[in-house]
Amino acid sequence: MSEIKIEITGLRKSFGQVEVLSGVDQRIEAGEVVCVIGPSGSGKSTLLRCVNLLEQPTGGRIVVDGIELTDPDTDIDAARTRIGMVFQQFNLFTHLSVLDNLTVAQRKVLGRSRDEAESVARQNLERVGLADRATAMPAQLSGGQQQRVGIARALAMNPDVMLFDEPTSALDPELVGDVLGVMRRLADEGMTMLVVTHEMQFAREVADRVLFMDGGVIVEQGDPAEVIGAPKQERTRGFLARVL
Ligand code: ADP
Ligand code: MG
Repeated sequence: MSEIKIEITGLRKSFGQVEVLSGVDQRIEAGEVVCVIGPSGSGKSTLLRCVNLLEQPTGGRIVVDGIELTDPDTDIDAARTRIGMVFQQFNLFTHLSVLDNLTVAQRKVLGRSRDEAESVARQNLERVGLADRATAMPAQLSGGQQQRVGIARALAMNPDVMLFDEPTSALDPELVGDVLGVMRRLADEGMTMLVVTHEMQFAREVADRVLFMDGGVIVEQGDPAEVIGAPKQERTRGFLARVL
């Protein structure tokens, strides 16, 4: 039997009068890599932000690793530590070294000792190919390196699932490959990943499933070769014709 890591049922989200998510259902198994594609404004970021309750859903149910985040009795801060999030803008602490960026939350949120946090930080910098940049400040790194630090920082919390919101969209084209390479390795290691991306090649090669969103709903989903290579829905075809 497969283990469901992320279960989203009837998810709705409105901002004021505007409904941005209009009933999203999704079950993501342990180790699955699911890529979300779709036009700007279709609700992709809002979906990810609801999955770790950075946005409070208007309706529906979200269960991550067996914990119902939408249950008012759930300790959201504790539950959220199990969910790693990587943003388009790297959101590093610019006044802290790379190493300190990776240790702060481990110490404050997980209560790890300085020694343990630094050891975990170094292991994860190694994992993203930046073991030699621990003492650097973020501004001394390229955008691609900063994003890999962002990924290492999320991994240092030992998350059960990783959410990526257009992690390469802010990068110069020549820096995209390194970040996608790190994500590909993570996928190979069996991490459960929900990835909003415009990198169709990555989605085709790495995703187990692709979701096409438009207007706050999942319009089409399935095998990447089918959704990207032979879309059934007119809206998917129109979108792909614009981006490919
Ligand atoms: P995507 O990531 O697919 O581009 P978003 O989830 O960011 O789409 O946004 C979906 C819609 O929700 C957009 O119309 C956007 O303007 C709106 N929206 C997103 N966040 C907010 C917010 N905090 N307040 C009001 N409207 C928002
Ligand atoms: Mg977005």
